[in-house]
Amino acid sequence: MATSARTVIVGGGLAGLSCARALGSDFLLLEAEDRVGGLCRTDVVDGFHFDWTGHWFHARTPEVKALIQERWLKDNLLTVERKASIFSEGVWTKFPYQHHLYGLPAQTIAECIEGFVEATLGESGKALRERPLEHAGEFIQRHLGKGFAEKFLIPYNEKLFTIPVTELSPEWGGRFIPRPGLSEVLRGALGLTQAGAGYNASFWYPREGGIESLVRALAADVAALPGEVRLKTRVQSISLSARRLTLTNGEVIPYEHLVLTAPLSSVAKAISDAPPHVREAGAKLRAISTSVVEIGADDVGGERFHWAYFPERRFPFYRIGSPSEVNPRLAPKGTRSFALEFSHQGPADTQRMIAQSLDALSELRLIDKSKVRLARARTIPTAYVLFDRAHEASRRTVIEHLTRSKVQLAGRYGRWEYSSMEDALLSGLECARTLLQAAPTYESLPAIGAAPDTTQTAIPIAKQGT
Ligand SMILES: Cc1cc2nc3c(=O)[nH]c(=O)nc-3n(C[C@H](O)[C@H](O)[C@H](O)COP(=O)(O)OP(=O)(O)OC[C@H]3O[C@@H](n4cnc5c(N)ncnc54)[C@H](O)[C@@H]3O)c2cc1C
Repeated sequence: MATSARTVIVGGGLAGLSCARALGSDFLLLEAEDRVGGLCRTDVVDGFHFDWTGHWFHARTPEVKALIQERWLKDNLLTVERKASIFSEGVWTKFPYQHHLYGLPAQTIAECIEGFVEATLGESGKALRERPLEHAGEFIQRHLGKGFAEKFLIPYNEKLFTIPVTELSPEWGGRFIPRPGLSEVLRGALGLTQAGAGYNASFWYPREGGIESLVRALAADVAALPGEVRLKTRVQSISLSARRLTLTNGEVIPYEHLVLTAPLSSVAKAISDAPPHVREAGAKLRAISTSVVEIGADDVGGERFHWAYFPERRFPFYRIGSPSEVNPRLAPKGTRSFALEFSHQGPADTQRMIAQSLDALSELRLIDKSKVRLARARTIPTAYVLFDRAHEASRRTVIEHLTRSKVQLAGRYGRWEYSSMEDALLSGLECARTLLQAAPTYESLPAIGAAPDTTQTAIPIAKQGT
Protein backbone atom coordinates (compact mmCIF):
# COMPACT_ATOMS: atom_id res chain seq x y z
CA MET A 1 0.00 0.00 0.00
CA ALA A 2 1.42 3.36 -0.95
CA THR A 3 1.33 6.15 1.60
CA SER A 4 0.61 9.76 0.89
CA ALA A 5 2.42 11.07 4.01
CA ARG A 6 5.32 13.35 3.17
CA THR A 7 7.36 12.41 6.20
CA VAL A 8 7.96 8.85 7.30
CA ILE A 9 9.28 8.40 10.86
CA VAL A 10 10.86 5.07 11.77
CA GLY A 11 10.47 4.24 15.47
CA GLY A 12 7.84 5.19 18.04
CA GLY A 13 10.02 5.83 21.09
CA LEU A 14 10.21 9.30 22.62
CA ALA A 15 12.24 10.67 19.69
CA GLY A 16 9.86 9.45 16.98
CA LEU A 17 6.72 10.50 18.87
CA SER A 18 8.20 13.91 19.66
CA CYS A 19 9.02 14.41 15.99
CA ALA A 20 5.50 13.42 14.90
CA ARG A 21 3.96 15.77 17.45
CA ALA A 22 6.05 18.70 16.34
CA LEU A 23 5.44 18.03 12.64
CA GLY A 24 1.73 18.33 13.35
CA SER A 25 0.46 16.64 10.19
CA ASP A 26 1.34 14.62 7.14
CA PHE A 27 3.45 11.97 8.91
CA LEU A 28 3.48 8.20 8.94
CA LEU A 29 5.16 6.73 12.03
CA LEU A 30 6.24 3.10 11.74
CA GLU A 31 6.83 1.16 14.96
CA ALA A 32 8.05 -2.43 14.99
CA GLU A 33 6.55 -3.34 18.38
CA ASP A 34 2.90 -3.72 19.37
CA ARG A 35 2.91 -0.47 21.34
CA VAL A 36 4.80 2.79 21.19
CA GLY A 37 7.31 3.98 23.80
CA GLY A 38 10.51 2.12 22.96
CA LEU A 39 12.61 1.89 26.12
CA CYS A 40 10.08 4.01 28.01
CA ARG A 41 7.53 1.25 28.43
CA THR A 42 6.29 -0.18 31.72
CA ASP A 43 5.10 -3.73 32.27
CA VAL A 44 2.78 -4.66 35.13
CA VAL A 45 3.07 -8.20 36.49
CA ASP A 46 1.26 -9.37 39.64
CA GLY A 47 0.99 -5.78 40.87
CA PHE A 48 4.69 -4.97 40.27
CA HIS A 49 5.40 -2.19 37.75
CA PHE A 50 8.71 -2.50 35.94
CA ASP A 51 9.92 0.07 33.42
CA TRP A 52 12.18 -1.45 30.81
CA THR A 53 14.71 -0.71 33.50
CA GLY A 54 14.16 2.32 35.72
CA HIS A 55 13.70 5.59 33.86
CA TRP A 56 14.07 8.75 35.94
CA PHE A 57 13.43 12.08 34.25
CA HIS A 58 16.02 14.88 34.55
CA ALA A 59 14.87 17.99 32.69
CA ARG A 60 17.30 20.78 31.84
CA THR A 61 15.45 22.85 29.26
CA PRO A 62 12.49 25.16 29.95
CA GLU A 63 10.70 23.81 26.87
CA VAL A 64 10.67 20.19 28.07
CA LYS A 65 10.09 21.17 31.70
CA ALA A 66 6.95 23.07 30.67
CA LEU A 67 5.62 20.18 28.57
CA ILE A 68 6.10 17.70 31.42
CA GLN A 69 4.77 19.92 34.20
CA GLU A 70 1.98 21.72 32.42
CA ARG A 71 0.78 19.23 29.87
CA TRP A 72 1.95 15.63 29.97
CA LEU A 73 2.21 14.74 33.65
CA LYS A 74 0.75 17.71 35.58
CA ASP A 75 -0.94 16.18 38.68
CA ASN A 76 0.67 12.84 37.89
CA LEU A 77 4.17 14.14 38.61
CA LEU A 78 6.39 13.30 41.59
CA THR A 79 9.62 15.14 42.36
CA VAL A 80 12.01 12.70 44.01
CA GLU A 81 15.24 13.54 45.88
CA ARG A 82 17.85 11.04 44.72
CA LYS A 83 18.78 8.25 47.13
CA ALA A 84 21.66 6.52 45.34
CA SER A 85 24.17 4.26 47.03
CA ILE A 86 27.32 2.33 46.30
CA PHE A 87 28.26 -1.03 47.75
CA SER A 88 31.98 -1.77 47.92
CA GLU A 89 34.44 -3.23 50.41
CA GLY A 90 31.49 -4.53 52.42
CA VAL A 91 29.94 -1.11 53.14
CA TRP A 92 27.15 1.01 51.73
CA THR A 93 28.16 4.58 50.91
CA LYS A 94 26.41 7.38 49.06
CA PHE A 95 26.68 8.23 45.35
CA PRO A 96 28.69 9.96 43.94
CA TYR A 97 31.62 7.96 45.33
CA GLN A 98 34.03 10.87 44.88
CA HIS A 99 31.85 13.05 47.17
CA HIS A 100 31.20 10.40 49.83
CA LEU A 101 34.28 8.55 51.01
CA TYR A 102 33.07 8.52 54.60
CA GLY A 103 32.55 4.98 55.92
CA LEU A 104 35.08 3.32 53.58
CA PRO A 105 38.28 1.75 55.02
CA ALA A 106 40.84 4.42 56.06
CA GLN A 107 43.39 3.07 53.55
CA THR A 108 40.92 3.55 50.67
CA ILE A 109 40.10 7.10 51.81
CA ALA A 110 43.80 7.97 51.98
CA GLU A 111 44.53 6.54 48.50
CA CYS A 112 41.60 8.42 46.98
CA ILE A 113 42.56 11.77 48.53
CA GLU A 114 46.28 11.42 47.74
CA GLY A 115 45.50 10.41 44.15
CA PHE A 116 43.02 13.25 43.72
CA VAL A 117 45.47 15.87 44.97
CA GLU A 118 48.23 14.53 42.70
CA ALA A 119 45.97 14.42 39.65
CA THR A 120 44.42 17.84 40.05
CA LEU A 121 47.21 19.87 41.71
CA GLY A 122 50.39 17.78 41.98
CA GLU A 123 53.48 17.54 39.79
CA SER A 124 52.81 13.98 38.57
CA GLY A 125 49.33 14.93 37.31
CA LYS A 126 50.68 17.83 35.26
CA ALA A 127 51.27 15.89 32.02
CA LEU A 128 47.65 14.77 31.75
CA ARG A 129 46.41 18.25 32.63
CA GLU A 130 48.34 19.74 29.75
CA ARG A 131 47.74 17.41 26.82
CA PRO A 132 44.64 16.03 25.06
CA LEU A 133 43.30 12.88 26.70
CA GLU A 134 43.55 9.67 24.70
CA HIS A 135 41.04 7.39 26.41
CA ALA A 136 38.50 7.15 29.24
CA GLY A 137 41.15 5.80 31.62
CA GLU A 138 43.09 9.04 31.19
CA PHE A 139 39.94 11.11 31.66
CA ILE A 140 39.31 9.39 34.99
CA GLN A 141 42.97 9.68 36.03
CA ARG A 142 43.10 13.35 34.99
CA HIS A 143 39.97 14.47 36.82
CA LEU A 144 39.85 12.12 39.81
CA GLY A 145 43.21 10.42 40.27
CA LYS A 146 44.47 6.91 40.90
CA GLY A 147 42.53 6.02 44.07
CA PHE A 148 39.07 6.94 42.77
CA ALA A 149 39.99 5.35 39.44
CA GLU A 150 41.01 1.99 40.89
CA LYS A 151 38.44 1.74 43.65
CA PHE A 152 35.37 2.76 41.69
CA LEU A 153 35.48 4.39 38.28
CA ILE A 154 37.59 1.90 36.35
CA PRO A 155 36.01 -1.33 37.62
CA TYR A 156 32.52 0.14 37.34
CA ASN A 157 32.97 1.42 33.80
CA GLU A 158 34.70 -1.77 32.66
CA LYS A 159 31.80 -3.81 34.00
CA LEU A 160 29.25 -1.52 32.34
CA PHE A 161 30.99 -1.27 28.95
CA THR A 162 32.56 -4.76 28.98
CA ILE A 163 35.92 -3.52 27.59
CA PRO A 164 39.01 -1.94 29.18
CA VAL A 165 38.75 1.82 29.81
CA THR A 166 41.88 2.24 27.67
CA GLU A 167 39.72 1.19 24.70
CA LEU A 168 36.98 3.71 25.45
CA SER A 169 37.24 7.22 24.04
CA PRO A 170 37.47 10.12 26.53
CA GLU A 171 33.99 11.25 25.37
CA TRP A 172 32.33 8.04 26.56
CA GLY A 173 30.28 9.71 29.27
CA GLY A 174 32.23 12.59 30.75
CA ARG A 175 29.10 14.73 31.05
CA PHE A 176 27.66 12.25 33.54
CA ILE A 177 30.74 11.97 35.79
CA PRO A 178 30.65 14.35 38.78
CA ARG A 179 33.99 16.16 39.17
CA PRO A 180 34.35 17.51 42.71
CA GLY A 181 36.78 20.12 44.01
CA LEU A 182 39.22 19.32 46.81
CA SER A 183 37.00 20.72 49.54
CA GLU A 184 34.10 18.52 48.39
CA VAL A 185 36.34 15.44 48.46
CA LEU A 186 37.59 16.31 51.94
CA ARG A 187 34.16 17.15 53.32
CA GLY A 188 32.86 13.88 51.85
CA ALA A 189 35.68 11.95 53.53
CA LEU A 190 34.79 13.53 56.88
CA GLY A 191 31.13 12.65 56.50
CA LEU A 192 29.89 16.23 56.19
CA THR A 193 26.58 16.30 54.36
CA GLN A 194 26.76 17.10 50.67
CA ALA A 195 23.36 17.08 49.09
CA GLY A 196 22.85 17.53 45.41
CA ALA A 197 26.16 16.50 43.82
CA GLY A 198 25.98 15.19 40.26
CA TYR A 199 23.59 15.79 37.36
CA ASN A 200 20.62 13.97 38.85
CA ALA A 201 20.26 15.12 42.47
CA SER A 202 16.51 15.16 42.06
CA PHE A 203 14.36 13.81 39.29
CA TRP A 204 10.79 13.49 38.09
CA TYR A 205 8.77 10.34 37.91
CA PRO A 206 5.05 9.70 37.30
CA ARG A 207 2.88 9.21 40.37
CA GLU A 208 0.84 6.53 38.56
CA GLY A 209 1.54 4.18 35.68
CA GLY A 210 5.35 4.08 35.54
CA ILE A 211 7.34 5.94 32.91
CA GLU A 212 4.94 4.75 30.22
CA SER A 213 2.37 7.28 31.41
CA LEU A 214 4.63 9.95 29.90
CA VAL A 215 4.56 8.05 26.61
CA ARG A 216 0.78 7.76 26.82
CA ALA A 217 0.40 11.51 27.18
CA LEU A 218 2.71 12.20 24.26
CA ALA A 219 1.09 9.47 22.17
CA ALA A 220 -2.35 10.93 22.86
CA ASP A 221 -1.14 14.27 21.48
CA VAL A 222 0.12 12.48 18.38
CA ALA A 223 -3.14 10.53 17.99
CA ALA A 224 -5.07 13.82 17.86
CA LEU A 225 -3.12 14.93 14.80
CA PRO A 226 -3.79 14.27 11.12
CA GLY A 227 -1.06 11.67 10.75
CA GLU A 228 -0.80 7.90 11.01
CA VAL A 229 0.88 5.60 13.55
CA ARG A 230 1.34 1.99 12.48
CA LEU A 231 2.31 -0.63 15.04
CA LYS A 232 3.86 -4.07 14.38
CA THR A 233 5.47 -2.56 11.31
CA ARG A 234 9.19 -3.17 10.94
CA VAL A 235 11.33 -1.50 8.30
CA GLN A 236 13.67 -4.01 6.71
CA SER A 237 15.50 -2.02 4.06
CA ILE A 238 15.98 1.52 2.88
CA SER A 239 16.74 2.67 -0.65
CA LEU A 240 18.13 6.18 -0.38
CA SER A 241 18.35 6.65 -4.15
CA ALA A 242 14.72 5.58 -4.76
CA ARG A 243 13.52 7.24 -1.52
CA ARG A 244 11.55 4.25 -0.35
CA LEU A 245 11.40 1.77 2.52
CA THR A 246 10.60 -1.91 2.36
CA LEU A 247 8.87 -3.49 5.34
CA THR A 248 9.43 -7.04 6.60
CA ASN A 249 6.05 -7.99 5.04
CA GLY A 250 7.31 -6.85 1.63
CA GLU A 251 5.28 -3.66 1.49
CA VAL A 252 7.05 -0.72 -0.13
CA ILE A 253 6.62 2.77 1.35
CA PRO A 254 7.83 5.83 -0.56
CA TYR A 255 8.87 8.91 1.38
CA GLU A 256 9.63 12.52 0.68
CA HIS A 257 11.28 13.13 4.05
CA LEU A 258 12.66 10.41 6.29
CA VAL A 259 13.35 10.52 10.05
CA LEU A 260 15.16 7.51 11.52
CA THR A 261 15.26 6.74 15.23
CA ALA A 262 16.12 3.02 14.86
CA PRO A 263 19.70 2.16 15.91
CA LEU A 264 22.25 3.59 13.47
CA SER A 265 24.05 0.22 13.42
CA SER A 266 20.96 -1.53 12.04
CA VAL A 267 20.14 1.40 9.75
CA ALA A 268 23.59 1.12 8.16
CA LYS A 269 22.91 -2.56 7.42
CA ALA A 270 19.45 -1.78 6.05
CA ILE A 271 20.61 0.74 3.41
CA SER A 272 20.33 -1.37 0.27
CA ASP A 273 22.34 1.03 -1.90
CA ALA A 274 25.07 1.92 0.62
CA PRO A 275 28.59 2.18 -0.81
CA PRO A 276 31.16 -0.28 0.65
CA HIS A 277 32.86 2.29 2.92
CA VAL A 278 29.52 3.10 4.60
CA ARG A 279 28.78 -0.61 5.09
CA GLU A 280 32.25 -1.10 6.57
CA ALA A 281 31.80 1.86 8.92
CA GLY A 282 28.34 0.60 9.94
CA ALA A 283 29.78 -2.80 10.81
CA LYS A 284 32.13 -1.10 13.28
CA LEU A 285 29.31 0.50 15.30
CA ARG A 286 29.15 -1.56 18.47
CA ALA A 287 26.73 -1.46 21.38
CA ILE A 288 26.38 -3.17 24.72
CA SER A 289 23.32 -5.21 25.58
CA THR A 290 21.73 -4.98 29.00
CA SER A 291 19.81 -7.81 30.62
CA VAL A 292 17.60 -6.76 33.48
CA VAL A 293 16.51 -9.19 36.19
CA GLU A 294 13.28 -8.04 37.83
CA ILE A 295 12.56 -9.26 41.34
CA GLY A 296 9.49 -8.65 43.50
CA ALA A 297 9.66 -9.83 47.11
CA ASP A 298 8.30 -9.27 50.60
CA ASP A 299 9.93 -6.29 52.30
CA VAL A 300 12.39 -7.69 54.82
CA GLY A 301 14.16 -4.37 55.52
CA GLY A 302 17.80 -3.66 54.73
CA GLU A 303 19.48 -0.76 52.88
CA ARG A 304 17.04 1.62 51.16
CA PHE A 305 18.06 3.18 47.83
CA HIS A 306 16.57 4.22 44.51
CA TRP A 307 19.50 2.67 42.78
CA ALA A 308 22.92 1.39 43.87
CA TYR A 309 26.19 0.85 42.00
CA PHE A 310 28.34 -2.27 42.32
CA PRO A 311 31.91 -1.72 41.10
CA GLU A 312 33.35 -4.99 42.42
CA ARG A 313 33.87 -7.85 40.01
CA ARG A 314 32.44 -10.43 42.41
CA PHE A 315 28.99 -9.01 41.60
CA PRO A 316 28.21 -9.76 37.94
CA PHE A 317 25.70 -6.88 37.63
CA TYR A 318 26.69 -3.21 37.62
CA ARG A 319 23.62 -1.65 39.21
CA ILE A 320 20.51 -2.49 41.22
CA GLY A 321 17.48 -0.25 40.87
CA SER A 322 14.61 -0.31 43.34
CA PRO A 323 11.46 1.02 41.65
CA SER A 324 9.29 0.54 44.77
CA GLU A 325 11.61 2.86 46.71
CA VAL A 326 11.22 5.62 44.09
CA ASN A 327 7.46 5.25 44.10
CA PRO A 328 5.75 2.77 46.47
CA ARG A 329 2.81 2.59 44.03
CA LEU A 330 5.04 0.49 41.76
CA ALA A 331 4.74 -2.56 44.02
CA PRO A 332 2.06 -4.19 46.21
CA LYS A 333 1.92 -3.06 49.83
CA GLY A 334 4.51 -4.75 52.06
CA THR A 335 6.80 -5.65 49.15
CA ARG A 336 9.91 -4.25 47.45
CA SER A 337 11.01 -4.48 43.86
CA PHE A 338 14.50 -4.65 42.41
CA ALA A 339 15.92 -4.48 38.88
CA LEU A 340 19.47 -5.80 38.50
CA GLU A 341 21.31 -4.74 35.34
CA PHE A 342 23.91 -6.94 33.64
CA SER A 343 25.99 -5.78 30.67
CA HIS A 344 27.08 -8.12 27.92
CA GLN A 345 27.99 -8.47 24.28
CA GLY A 346 26.25 -11.33 22.50
CA PRO A 347 23.64 -13.66 23.94
CA ALA A 348 22.95 -13.86 27.68
CA ASP A 349 22.18 -16.75 29.99
CA THR A 350 19.27 -15.04 31.74
CA GLN A 351 18.39 -18.07 33.91
CA ARG A 352 21.87 -17.88 35.40
CA MET A 353 21.48 -14.13 35.89
CA ILE A 354 18.21 -14.69 37.79
CA ALA A 355 19.96 -17.18 40.10
CA GLN A 356 22.91 -14.80 40.59
CA SER A 357 20.51 -11.95 41.38
CA LEU A 358 18.63 -13.91 44.01
CA ASP A 359 21.91 -14.99 45.63
CA ALA A 360 23.27 -11.43 45.69
CA LEU A 361 20.06 -9.85 47.03
CA SER A 362 19.98 -12.49 49.73
CA GLU A 363 23.66 -11.91 50.61
CA LEU A 364 22.96 -8.16 50.79
CA ARG A 365 20.00 -8.90 53.11
CA LEU A 366 17.56 -7.21 50.77
CA ILE A 367 15.36 -10.28 50.26
CA ASP A 368 14.49 -13.54 51.95
CA LYS A 369 14.67 -16.11 49.16
CA SER A 370 11.62 -17.93 50.51
CA LYS A 371 9.57 -14.73 50.16
CA VAL A 372 10.21 -13.93 46.51
CA ARG A 373 7.02 -13.37 44.52
CA LEU A 374 8.41 -12.65 41.08
CA ALA A 375 11.72 -13.23 39.27
CA ARG A 376 12.10 -12.75 35.54
CA ALA A 377 14.52 -11.27 33.02
CA ARG A 378 14.43 -9.22 29.84
CA THR A 379 17.18 -8.20 27.46
CA ILE A 380 17.67 -4.83 25.73
CA PRO A 381 19.85 -5.81 22.75
CA THR A 382 21.07 -2.26 22.03
CA ALA A 383 21.36 -0.43 25.35
CA TYR A 384 24.66 1.49 25.51
CA VAL A 385 26.55 2.75 22.48
CA LEU A 386 30.14 1.60 22.82
CA PHE A 387 32.46 4.59 22.56
CA ASP A 388 35.41 2.53 21.41
CA ARG A 389 38.27 3.78 19.26
CA ALA A 390 36.36 3.16 16.01
CA HIS A 391 33.23 4.88 17.25
CA GLU A 392 33.74 8.49 16.22
CA ALA A 393 34.98 7.97 12.66
CA SER A 394 32.51 5.17 11.90
CA ARG A 395 29.58 7.12 13.27
CA ARG A 396 30.57 10.19 11.29
CA THR A 397 30.86 8.22 8.03
CA VAL A 398 27.39 6.69 8.35
CA ILE A 399 25.75 9.93 9.50
CA GLU A 400 27.36 11.98 6.72
CA HIS A 401 26.10 9.50 4.13
CA LEU A 402 22.56 9.69 5.46
CA THR A 403 22.68 13.46 5.83
CA ARG A 404 23.80 13.84 2.19
CA SER A 405 20.63 11.94 1.28
CA LYS A 406 18.65 14.42 3.41
CA VAL A 407 17.71 11.82 6.03
CA GLN A 408 17.09 13.15 9.56
CA LEU A 409 18.39 11.20 12.55
CA ALA A 410 16.92 11.43 16.03
CA GLY A 411 17.14 9.77 19.42
CA ARG A 412 19.78 8.01 21.47
CA TYR A 413 20.26 5.20 18.96
CA GLY A 414 19.44 7.07 15.75
CA ARG A 415 22.23 9.53 16.57
CA TRP A 416 24.30 6.78 18.16
CA GLU A 417 25.10 8.59 21.38
CA TYR A 418 24.81 8.41 25.16
CA SER A 419 21.81 10.56 26.00
CA SER A 420 18.65 10.87 28.06
CA MET A 421 14.88 10.87 27.60
CA GLU A 422 14.92 14.65 27.43
CA ASP A 423 17.57 14.52 24.70
CA ALA A 424 15.40 12.07 22.74
CA LEU A 425 12.41 14.41 22.96
CA LEU A 426 14.53 17.39 21.92
CA SER A 427 16.16 15.61 18.99
CA GLY A 428 12.76 14.58 17.60
CA LEU A 429 11.60 18.17 17.92
CA GLU A 430 14.74 19.45 16.24
CA CYS A 431 14.26 17.13 13.24
CA ALA A 432 10.67 18.33 12.85
CA ARG A 433 11.77 21.95 12.98
CA THR A 434 14.40 21.33 10.33
CA LEU A 435 11.81 19.69 8.09
CA LEU A 436 9.23 22.41 8.67
CA GLN A 437 11.76 25.03 7.61
CA ALA A 438 12.61 22.97 4.55
CA ALA A 439 8.98 22.51 3.63
CA PRO A 440 7.24 25.87 3.96
CA THR A 441 3.88 24.47 2.89
CA TYR A 442 3.52 22.79 6.28
CA GLU A 443 1.46 24.46 8.93
CA SER A 444 3.60 25.79 11.72
CA LEU A 445 3.81 23.94 15.06
CA PRO A 446 0.39 22.65 16.01
CA ALA A 447 -2.07 23.84 18.60
CA ILE A 448 -3.13 20.39 19.73
CA GLY A 449 -5.86 21.34 22.18
CA ALA A 450 -6.47 20.36 25.78
CA ALA A 451 -3.89 18.20 27.54
CA PRO A 452 -4.75 14.50 27.31
CA ASP A 453 -6.08 12.32 30.12
CA THR A 454 -3.08 10.04 30.57
CA THR A 455 -4.99 7.43 32.53
CA GLN A 456 -6.76 6.47 29.28
CA THR A 457 -4.90 5.51 26.12
CA ALA A 458 -6.05 7.28 23.02
CA ILE A 459 -4.08 5.33 20.45
CA PRO A 460 -3.75 1.59 20.26
CA ILE A 461 -1.34 0.68 23.04
CA ALA A 462 -1.48 -3.00 23.94
CA LYS A 463 -2.72 -4.07 27.37
CA GLN A 464 0.10 -4.12 29.84
CA GLY A 465 1.37 -7.46 30.99
CA THR A 466 4.23 -9.83 30.51
C1 LIG B 1 19.62 0.79 30.87
C2 LIG B 1 19.12 2.15 30.49
C3 LIG B 1 18.68 3.03 31.47
C4 LIG B 1 18.25 4.31 31.12
N1 LIG B 1 17.83 5.15 32.12
C5 LIG B 1 17.45 6.41 31.81
C6 LIG B 1 17.03 7.31 32.83
O1 LIG B 1 16.93 6.95 34.02
N2 LIG B 1 16.71 8.59 32.45
C7 LIG B 1 16.78 9.02 31.16
O2 LIG B 1 16.49 10.19 30.88
N3 LIG B 1 17.16 8.18 30.17
C8 LIG B 1 17.50 6.90 30.46
N4 LIG B 1 17.88 6.05 29.46
C9 LIG B 1 17.92 6.56 28.08
C10 LIG B 1 16.54 6.56 27.41
O3 LIG B 1 15.99 5.25 27.46
C11 LIG B 1 16.67 6.95 25.95
O4 LIG B 1 17.40 8.15 25.80
C12 LIG B 1 15.32 7.15 25.24
O5 LIG B 1 14.34 6.27 25.70
C13 LIG B 1 15.58 6.93 23.76
O6 LIG B 1 14.39 7.09 23.02
P1 LIG B 1 14.45 6.85 21.46
O7 LIG B 1 13.13 7.18 20.91
O8 LIG B 1 15.63 7.54 20.91
O9 LIG B 1 14.79 5.28 21.28
P2 LIG B 1 13.94 3.99 21.63
O10 LIG B 1 13.23 4.13 22.91
O11 LIG B 1 14.88 2.84 21.49
O12 LIG B 1 12.85 3.92 20.47
C14 LIG B 1 13.16 3.49 19.18
C15 LIG B 1 11.94 2.78 18.61
O13 LIG B 1 12.25 2.38 17.27
C16 LIG B 1 11.66 1.12 17.05
N5 LIG B 1 12.37 0.47 15.93
C17 LIG B 1 13.67 0.06 15.92
N6 LIG B 1 13.98 -0.47 14.72
C18 LIG B 1 12.86 -0.38 13.96
C19 LIG B 1 12.55 -0.75 12.61
N7 LIG B 1 13.45 -1.34 11.82
N8 LIG B 1 11.30 -0.50 12.13
C20 LIG B 1 10.36 0.09 12.93
N9 LIG B 1 10.61 0.46 14.21
C21 LIG B 1 11.84 0.23 14.72
C22 LIG B 1 11.83 0.39 18.37
O14 LIG B 1 10.92 -0.69 18.50
C23 LIG B 1 11.59 1.51 19.37
O15 LIG B 1 10.23 1.57 19.77
C24 LIG B 1 18.28 4.75 29.77
C25 LIG B 1 18.68 3.85 28.78
C26 LIG B 1 19.10 2.57 29.12
C27 LIG B 1 19.54 1.62 28.05
